[in-house]
Amino acid sequence: MCAFQPFALESSIGAKEFVRFTMSLAHASKHVGSRGTCLRSSYVEISRFVRTRHHGITPNRTTICSVRALRCFSSSRELRTAIEPDAKLRRALDEYKATIPKSLSVQEGTSWKKLDDGPEMPNFETSGYLSTRRDVNKKLSFTMLRNRGQSYCIQLVSTSNNGGPAAEAHERLRSLKEWTPVIVRGALRTREPAKSETHLGMKLVANLEVAVEEIIPVNEVSDDIIIKDDTVFGPEQRHLQLRTNKELRDNILFRGRATTVAKGWLTTNGWIEYETPLLFKSTPEGAREFLVPTRQKGLAYALPQSPQQYKQILMASGFIRYCQFARCFRDEDLRADRQPEFTQLDMEAAWCSDTSIMLNVERLLTHLWLQLLRHKLPSVFPRMTYEEAMSSYGSDKPDMRFEAKVCSKRQKKDVSVNHGQIHNITQHLTSDLTGKITPLQDPTIDAFKIRISSDPKITRKFIASFLDSPEGKPYLDNPNGQPGIFIGDLSQPMQGLGPLGYQYVMEGPESLAVDHGDLLVLQARPNAPLSGGSTVLGNLRLALYKAAIAQGLIDPPAPDDWRFVWITDFPLFTPTDDTDPGQGGTAGFASTHHPFTAPKTPEDLDLLLTDPSLAKAAHYDIVLNGVELGGGSRRIHNAAVQEFIFRDVLKMKAERIEDFRHLLDVLRSGCPPHAGIALGWDRLIAVMRGKESVRDVIAFPKSGRGEDGMVKSPNRVTEEQWETYHLKVKE
Ligand code: ASP
Repeated sequence: MCAFQPFALESSIGAKEFVRFTMSLAHASKHVGSRGTCLRSSYVEISRFVRTRHHGITPNRTTICSVRALRCFSSSRELRTAIEPDAKLRRALDEYKATIPKSLSVQEGTSWKKLDDGPEMPNFETSGYLSTRRDVNKKLSFTMLRNRGQSYCIQLVSTSNNGGPAAEAHERLRSLKEWTPVIVRGALRTREPAKSETHLGMKLVANLEVAVEEIIPVNEVSDDIIIKDDTVFGPEQRHLQLRTNKELRDNILFRGRATTVAKGWLTTNGWIEYETPLLFKSTPEGAREFLVPTRQKGLAYALPQSPQQYKQILMASGFIRYCQFARCFRDEDLRADRQPEFTQLDMEAAWCSDTSIMLNVERLLTHLWLQLLRHKLPSVFPRMTYEEAMSSYGSDKPDMRFEAKVCSKRQKKDVSVNHGQIHNITQHLTSDLTGKITPLQDPTIDAFKIRISSDPKITRKFIASFLDSPEGKPYLDNPNGQPGIFIGDLSQPMQGLGPLGYQYVMEGPESLAVDHGDLLVLQARPNAPLSGGSTVLGNLRLALYKAAIAQGLIDPPAPDDWRFVWITDFPLFTPTDDTDPGQGGTAGFASTHHPFTAPKTPEDLDLLLTDPSLAKAAHYDIVLNGVELGGGSRRIHNAAVQEFIFRDVLKMKAERIEDFRHLLDVLRSGCPPHAGIALGWDRLIAVMRGKESVRDVIAFPKSGRGEDGMVKSPNRVTEEQWETYHLKVKE
């Protein structure tokens, strides 16, 4: 019925009459004020008009929209006057007409790999981007043609020797800029084998070339665009960087392949892909959210910081294994190479324990490494508790490559397995010495040693230059005291450790015994349970390794030295600071992971009643070479326990707990136990490609200020646009 109404309307009013009517409305509405008011009054008028012409028929919303569309279309046709193009526009239109491709197919361009083994072809047609050209003389040129994907290139030979269309094509070709996209026709013929197998990083078709008979540019490269081999493009020219930078292209293509391989494994192993909404609601899950205002006054959606709640709801909905390549949004500090929007491979399974998720992830990662990097990973990944990681490495994402191989091959010395681990040496130091290291009362003193050189002079020079550099400055400014630096020197009493005192030298940990040229670093910290992601000494340890590698004092880890480790037994809660929105409770701490993570054991659950700060979580992070690839947990699947944690442990306000009512209702409907994980897909791909920054594996990344320089977002919107959402920018 609705679909026919516009036609009924048009025929009974008469199109001309209707157009006249709507035009006069449009004219009148110009004087009414804002666009919204004017449209509204137009609708009212149309509706009144229609009602008087059609007794008893009240147009519904569809009718009104159709009337509006018809009004715009008809009035613009009546008012239209033909455009008279000037010479420039005429030329542009004609040139465009000539370049409209007639016979391009998606398959073409994939077959260049096979060209070299194939026969000569008198009528050959291909396409791609022009590359470098060498003009031998006026009559002969050699031009390289890149295939569409810039993986291969072939030599084009053009000559004006025989006149006719080939000579015309020769002249045309010489007038075109590098990177012009062209269709080439000619004879594919044998050439003298090319001296090089590659050209500008592309494979060169070595045994065949194209004698050009016709060349059709399908677009032009504007004169103001300069594309040279070494051009570094700004973010606004990301498309040119993507087109011309082989490494970046390879990263993006690798990413696509990795996603396909992962999806293959997931499908084979019974993980089904689900989609969950991007327009979600604001809930205090932990990260700062992006809000999406709606036209309903005071109401907003929030973009999901992860599909956590929906995937748990899917588990309560009777699905068993969920996965999704999910877009997630967090309005967080972007300095640490984070993106405000990013991709996670999100997984969740019902009737499942934490260890089962960990095993599945190990199998998936092993598959990815084998398929994409041809590297066999160990079948079981090592596990380490948070406590162990923080106390031995000063980080909850320890880089295990630095513990076994810290000694340069050039030094030809034995490698000590404990090298680089942090040890608590407080008990071996006198209070007199401790007082010199730190202003803290009752501190903890940690230390590690690192073999920089077998020559104390070199080690001394290294550490002095490090501490003088901007990287070293924060460690000198530490209010808990500067690092204590000692250098092993066999020519000195007590190997150069005399200032640490007799007691330390006699009783200190065996694994910190120094050799000639070893660097021993001490650092004080408050005597309190370890929390957060790293300690000052942990950061200093990593910074020193990096600096020593950069100076060639320590060999860099091999590119295929992949050290995975699971970190488990995180504290369920972490003290809050001002930067962390947490769950907004008043307990002074927030969930370390998110508030849906279950306590690890029944004893940990009991601790929630007495001392929640001691409770451990059923939370696991997967770490590779010092990078956290992802994390997950077993969830609280019981509504009463979940509500108890919100209300009594985190001490959230009642109205914020109500934001989670949907989840509590779902949990009390017989939700089975479930667990899951999310792998940061950008980060995982960056690590696989040996890239430090996720920006190198994202086609259109945002800058450190959260801006996309290509499209220039975020952009300013008008007052009227804000008004649509009942919002106003505060001056
Ligand atoms: N939603 C979590 C996150 O984004 C992952 C998980 O617990 O599965 O970190």
